[in-house]
Amino acid sequence: MEFAYTLGTDFSIQKILDHLVQSIVEVLPVTGAGVMLMGDRQELHFIAASDATVMTIERLQNELTEGPCLEAYRFGLPVSIDDLSLDTRFPRFSPRGLAEGMAAVFTFPLTLDDERLGALDLYRDTPGPLSDEDLQAAQVLGDVASAYLFNAQARIDASATVARLNHRSLHDPLTGLANRTLFEELLEQAIARARRSQNVAAVLFADLDGFKAVNDRHGHLMGDRLLSAVARRLTRVLRPGDTAARMGGDEFVVLCEDLAERADAENVARRIATAISDPFELDGHRISVTASVGIAFSGPGQDVPEALLRDADFAMYQAKNGGGDRMQVLDPAARLASDRREQLELDLQQAQSRNEFSLAYQPILDVHSRQMVAAEALLRWTHPDRGAVEPAVVIPSAERTGLILALGEWVLHQACTDLRHWQASGTGVPVIAVNVSAHQLMGPAFAQTVERVLDATGVDPHGLSLEVTETVFLADMSRAVTVMQDVKDLGVGLSLDDFGTGYSSLNYLRRFPFDRVKIDRSFTADAETDMVTQRLIGAMIDFSHGMDLTVIAEGIETSQELTQMTGLGADEAQGYHLSHPLTKDRLEEFAQSTTRPGAG
Ligand code: C2E
Ligand code: MG
Ligand code: MG
Repeated sequence: MEFAYTLGTDFSIQKILDHLVQSIVEVLPVTGAGVMLMGDRQELHFIAASDATVMTIERLQNELTEGPCLEAYRFGLPVSIDDLSLDTRFPRFSPRGLAEGMAAVFTFPLTLDDERLGALDLYRDTPGPLSDEDLQAAQVLGDVASAYLFNAQARIDASATVARLNHRSLHDPLTGLANRTLFEELLEQAIARARRSQNVAAVLFADLDGFKAVNDRHGHLMGDRLLSAVARRLTRVLRPGDTAARMGGDEFVVLCEDLAERADAENVARRIATAISDPFELDGHRISVTASVGIAFSGPGQDVPEALLRDADFAMYQAKNGGGDRMQVLDPAARLASDRREQLELDLQQAQSRNEFSLAYQPILDVHSRQMVAAEALLRWTHPDRGAVEPAVVIPSAERTGLILALGEWVLHQACTDLRHWQASGTGVPVIAVNVSAHQLMGPAFAQTVERVLDATGVDPHGLSLEVTETVFLADMSRAVTVMQDVKDLGVGLSLDDFGTGYSSLNYLRRFPFDRVKIDRSFTADAETDMVTQRLIGAMIDFSHGMDLTVIAEGIETSQELTQMTGLGADEAQGYHLSHPLTKDRLEEFAQSTTRPGAG
C-alpha cells in the first residue's frame, strides 16, 4: 500500500527504487533486495539496496560485469541460484557473494513491453529455493515497479525535452543570445519594474555597418562566425544584469535596467561600438566592421516594448545616417517628424480612393498678346484633418512610397479628361501642361502609359504637354532621351521645368527633345535688382531660342517682373500676377475672358 502510494505521488526514480527494495524485504522471506537500472548504452543508471551489504554485492556485479542480475537484465529471464556454494555459472561473483554472507540469489528482469529497464535481486543468507507464491509476488512487485519507473523516466525525458525546446525557442541558435520573443518578454517585465520603481530602462539597438560586404566577400559561413564573435564581445562589455539579444541578421539589442543615470546606457552603447570596431581575427582573416547603436529610454508614454524597440531602431538609423560607428540617443523631435511623415504616407495611400485629390489649373499667357496659350495642371490634396497639403510635400512622399506611378497616372488621366472636354466644347484652353516626376518618366513603360491615357480619353495629343525637371538629367541619360522621344512621337509636347535650379547645363538642352523651357521663378525674382542675373537670363533665352525652344517665365508676381522678362525675350509667362491656379470652372471663365476668337 505504502509502496503504491509512493509510486503514485513521487516520481523520483531513486525514491521508487528505495521503496521497492524496502517493501520487498518486509513482504517476502528474504534477507535483502537490490535493484539496478540500466541506461541506453547498458551502463548502470540507478542502483538501490535494502542495506549496505546488498549495496556492496550489487556494485560488485557491476564491477565484475558478471552476476545473476546482469544475466537477468541481458536475457530478460529470471535467474535463481538456490545455493551459491554450488554455483558454477558465475565463478567470479559467487565466491564474493558467499564471502559477504549471502547463500542464495533470485533475480527478476524489470521489463516493460520490449523495453529492458534493469533487474531486481533478492538475497537470502540461507540456501534453498523460494516458494512459487513468493517468486510470483516478487515478479509482480517488479512489474509494477517497472511500469512506474517507465512513467517516471518518460516524465524526466519529457521535461528535459521541454527545457531543451524552451531554450531553443527563446534563444538564437547561432549566438546563444536571447531571441526576439524572449527579449520582448524581458523588456515588458523591465518596463513594468521601471514604472513601479520610478527607474529608467534603456533599449540599445546595435546594427553592424558593413556586414553585408563581409557576407559578400567572405561568404555566409564567415558572416555567421563574425556574428558569434560580435555576440561574445557585446556580452563582455555589458554590465551585470544587462540582457543582450539577437533580433535577426546583424541586429543586436541590449536591455539595461536600473540605470542610475541615462549616461550609463550611453556608456554601454559607446563601449559596444568601440568593442566591435576592433578588427576581428577569424580563420586567418582580419575583418573590420563597426556598429551603429541607437538608444531609447522607457518613460511616460514609452512603455510598450514594441514601441521602445522601434524608437531604439529609429535612433540606430540616425546613428547610421550620421556615418555609422557611433551611438545616438533617440531625438524625439526627429521621431515625431518621421511619425508624421509616415502617417502622411499612410493617409496618402488612401487619398485616391477617398477622392481627396483634385487639380488646379494655372494659366500660361503669351506675353505679347496676353492670350492664354496653356494651363498647367497642379495637384491638390485636401487632407480630411489637415486641409490642403502642398505638392512639395505630397510629391516627394509619393515618390518615396512608389505611389507616384498611380498618382501620376491619375493626374494625367484627370487632366486629359478635362482637356478633352475643353477641346470638344471649344472653350479656349488650348494646351494642358502636366508635371511628370522623374520616377514616372523612368518608371516602367511610361510612354505606353501616356498613350493609353490619350486613347482612353480621346484627346488630341497636341493639346498635351509634359513638364519634367532637371532631375531627369541624373537618371540614365540615354534611356531618358529614348523615353522622351517616344513621348514626343505620340505628338505630345515636352517642357523643361524649373530651368536653372539644378543640374543645368545648357548642353543638356541639346540632347533632349524639349520644345519649351520654363525659367525658374528664382531667376525672375532676382532679375529686377541683379544685373548679372539679367545677363544670365538673357543668355539662357538667346540660347534656347537658338534651338527653337519657346521660353516661359515662371512665377511672375508683378507687372515689373513681367515687363522685365518680356524685355529679356521671354515668350510666355505664368505667375500670380497673371493668375493664381484656378479650379476647372474658373479656368473656363478665365479662358473666355482672355481668348477672343480670331484674336492673336
Ligand atoms: P512647378 O511645376 O514649377 O509649378 C509651379 C509652382 O509655382 C506651383 O506650385 C504654383 O502654384 C507656383 N506658382 C505659380 N505662380 C507663382 C508665383 O507667382 N509665385 C510663387 N511664389 N509661386 C507661384 P505648387 O502647385 O505648389 O506646385 C509645386 C511643384 O510641385 C510644382 O512646381 C511641380 O514641380 C510639383 N507638382 C505639382 N503638381 C504635380 C503633379 O501633378 N505631378 C508632379 N510630378 N509634380 C507636381
Ligand atoms: Mg511645372
Ligand atoms: Mg516650375
